[in-house]
Amino acid sequence: MSCLKRETALPSPAGSDGRDFNAFDVMQPRIPTATPAEAKNGARVKAANVPPEGVYLPNNNRLAPHMRSPEYVQMSTAAAITLGVMPGKMHRCGCTRCLNLLLTYPEGCRANCAYCGLARHREADRDYADRNFIRVDWPAVPMDEIIEIVARDGEKTPFHRMCISMITHPRSDDDTVTVLGKWTSRIDPATVPVSILSNPTTMQRKDVSTLRDLGADIFTVALDAATPEIFDRTRGKGVDSPHSWKKYWEILEDARDIFGTQKFGAHIIVGMGETEHDVLTLVQRLVDMGGHSHMFCFFPEKGSLMDHLPATPRDQWRRVQLARYLIDYAGVRVEQMTFDDAGRVTDFGLPPGELDGVIDKGLAFRTSGCPGKVAEDISACDRPYGDSPPSNIASYPFQPQAVDIRKIRQQLDMERPGEAFVEDEDLEPENWN
Ligand code: SF4
Repeated sequence: MSCLKRETALPSPAGSDGRDFNAFDVMQPRIPTATPAEAKNGARVKAANVPPEGVYLPNNNRLAPHMRSPEYVQMSTAAAITLGVMPGKMHRCGCTRCLNLLLTYPEGCRANCAYCGLARHREADRDYADRNFIRVDWPAVPMDEIIEIVARDGEKTPFHRMCISMITHPRSDDDTVTVLGKWTSRIDPATVPVSILSNPTTMQRKDVSTLRDLGADIFTVALDAATPEIFDRTRGKGVDSPHSWKKYWEILEDARDIFGTQKFGAHIIVGMGETEHDVLTLVQRLVDMGGHSHMFCFFPEKGSLMDHLPATPRDQWRRVQLARYLIDYAGVRVEQMTFDDAGRVTDFGLPPGELDGVIDKGLAFRTSGCPGKVAEDISACDRPYGDSPPSNIASYPFQPQAVDIRKIRQQLDMERPGEAFVEDEDLEPENWN
């Protein structure tokens, strides 16, 4: 089949069974239930009042209310393995290039986003430090210990970037400043540049300036939802959560003004009910502002208000991934692409030979995020399997090999004649990082 234009129409939208995209009507989150008073605001942890002791591995059940930022941060399992503070291995990956840090408090995040494992409604069943987030556990580690290890490794550090993820908490603005200040006073930003994954709801424009002045390199906003309706349904009034689309855009525009071209961006989750045309129009808007999109495939996070919903079908995801790469890095505009009545991409706006070249290179299908030390279009943020199981990879945390490209082409319905079919990998759960 031609890579420029499909010779047959895409299948009609067929509801949740057999559909090739996640439609708005299907992607309705559950309504959160009320939390019992004895579990609210980290009450169980505060009542136990056990002192923290070094690295905390989730489900150790040490209820330590003073294990909190800025003294402590949580980090992704991949970062903890790479840093050497916990054992483990990652399927087809040696390490991660991004040290993803997350502010931590016994009260947890005070927002209630429907797709998120850290959401407030989970207070009833899991203490904050034990909640899964983006498919994995997040160990809590003393900030001083992290800095000590990275400073000791110097130029030999495996990390190409560090990222501080804020959450929604009354302390998170001040504590982000403290954590960043501690880091930049010991680690040269030229060796390990810093990104901020912000929480606009509690921030003002001056907070954005403060972080830039303290040495942050890139500022991102986790918009996550691609349209105002989906934002409100998954992060706002729809789930009793405090965020607003308007406020997120205000801070994103502040970031454009303060951090400048190529130094700001927005996270977007694909497959929460938007059309492909919706999300790619947003990608184009970000590029026109001078920024980038960092894109993730919706995966039903265990324990979240959307854990009963379907993961994004791979064909929808691959079309959006490819089109987003073309807009972000190849100068193609969304207006050059064509879409069907359901908003699905039918033509990527490039001649077949050129599109084949982009697909075969594989970069479009890697994890997306802030750049590392290799190339502008290769993300340091390669934390593996945050948006899929490794048996059926959505975002490749490594350079896709020939077998991976064959699978991607199958998913795009753009396979070359005679190529053998590639099955999902049959992996044991313990290999899933
Ligand atoms: S603000 Fe962020 S951490 Fe908090 S619930 Fe929403 S997505 Fe999760």
